[in-house]
Amino acid sequence: MAPHVALVSFTGFRIREEEMLELGMTLPGLRGRAEAIGRLPSLGLLTLAGMTPPAWTCSYHEQGVEADSLLERVLAEKPTLVAISALTASINDAYLFCGRIKQAGVFVVLGGLHATTRPQEASRHCDAVVIGEGEPVWHQLLADARSGELKQSYRARLAFDLANAPIPRFDLLGSERRSRLTLQTQRGCPLACEFCGASRLLGPFREKPVAGIERELSEVARLSGRHIVELADDNTFAGNRDLDSFFETLAASGIRYFTEVDWRVGVRPEVVERLAGSGCVQVLVGVESLAHSYRGMGAKRAEPSVIMDALSAIQQTGVAVNGCFVVGSDGETRKSIEELGRFILESDLADVQLTLQTPFPGTALYHRLDASGRLLPDRDWSYYTLFDVTYRPQAMCPDELQRAFVALVRRVFDEEASQRRSSIRRAVWRRHPRLGSCESELCFDS
Ligand code: SF4
Repeated sequence: MAPHVALVSFTGFRIREEEMLELGMTLPGLRGRAEAIGRLPSLGLLTLAGMTPPAWTCSYHEQGVEADSLLERVLAEKPTLVAISALTASINDAYLFCGRIKQAGVFVVLGGLHATTRPQEASRHCDAVVIGEGEPVWHQLLADARSGELKQSYRARLAFDLANAPIPRFDLLGSERRSRLTLQTQRGCPLACEFCGASRLLGPFREKPVAGIERELSEVARLSGRHIVELADDNTFAGNRDLDSFFETLAASGIRYFTEVDWRVGVRPEVVERLAGSGCVQVLVGVESLAHSYRGMGAKRAEPSVIMDALSAIQQTGVAVNGCFVVGSDGETRKSIEELGRFILESDLADVQLTLQTPFPGTALYHRLDASGRLLPDRDWSYYTLFDVTYRPQAMCPDELQRAFVALVRRVFDEEASQRRSSIRRAVWRRHPRLGSCESELCFDS
C-alpha cells in the first residue's frame, strides 16, 4: 500500500467573546467577511501536498467539522503521517487532536506560526515539530515517517526559494465550492511592525518569480473557473520586482484579485495607475492605530491624513480599500476609541476591518508585554483571536477595553454604516475598468 499523508488545517477564523460571536453572526458586514475568510483553504498545506513525491497519496481536511468526525475521517484513511498546521487561537484544539492521533498509533507532525514560535510546547503534543518553513524539510520528514524514524523537530537551514514553489494541490479540495482560491506572490515583508507575526517568522522577505505566478494562475483559473483570487501576500508591491512583467502576467490571466498592501501604494503612480487594469478589485491596508505609531513601521509611518489621502487615490482608480484598524495600543483610551469610530464613519473607506491588538507569540509586541508583566495569566492561547483582550492595556482596564471594542464594532458595522460602505464600494467599482455586471459576486455582504 502506498504511504499516505493526511493534511489537516486548524487555521480557520475563531471568535471566543460571546457578544462578538453574536455580532459576527448578526451584523451582515461582519458575517460576510468572516465567511469569506473562513472559506479560504490553507495554502501552506496545499503547497506541501504539491511537493509530495508521487509514491505518496495525500488528502486535505479542515477543522470546521466536529472533532470526532474529523478524527474518524482522518484515521479511516490509515495514514502513515498526519501533518497539522495551526494558528495560535486554534492551537489548543490542534493539541487535543494531535493527542488522539498519537493514541491511535499514527505519527503526527505540527507546523505553522505558533509551533514555530513555541516548538517545545508543541513537541509535548506531537511526534515532530516543523520550525519555520515546511517546504525545505518536507521530503526528509516524509522519508523519516516512512522509515518510522521521525526526528523531534525539523528546521530548514536555508529559506525556501520561491522559484521552486510547486503548484498547490487545489484539486484536493474536491467539489466543494470555494468562492476564492489563494496564490502567494511573495513571502514576508521588508517592514517589521511591532505586532506583526507574518513579516519575519518564516524567514526573510522574498518574491516569487513571475513564471511561477503565471503557472499557478493558469491552474487556479482551470480549477475554479471563476477567476477570483486572494493573493496570500503580506505586503504585495513592498519589494523591488519588475512591475511591468508582474502586472502584465496578472492582467493576461483575466483574474480579479484581492490583496494586502501598505498605504504607500497610493503615492506610487507606477503601481496605483496599473492596479485596476491588472485585475485588482480590493486592497486590504493597515491604517493600524490613530492613537499610536508602532515600532518597526519604517517608511510606512505617517500621519493618518497622509494615509487617508493615499487610500482615496487608490479608490479613485476603481480599487476598493479595506482599511484595517488595530484597537488597544498603548495610549488608547475610551475617548480615542470613540474618536476612531467617528473617523471611520466619516471616512470614504469602502470596507473596514477592526481587530484588538493581539500580542502573538514571537512578535516584538509579545516580548515587550511579557517582559513588563502585562500579559494576562488567565488568558490561554484560545483568547488570541484578534477579538479578545489578552494583556493589560496601558490606560484602561482589560474589561473596559473589551467593552469599548465591542461598542465600536456595533457602531462601525451597524446597518446604516454598512450600507453606506456598500454604496461607496459600488461607486468605486463602477470606476473599475474590468468590472461590470459581475460586481455583485465580489460583495461580502450579499
Ligand atoms: S506592513 Fe503589514 S505585513 Fe509588513 S510588517 Fe507591517 S503589518 Fe506586517
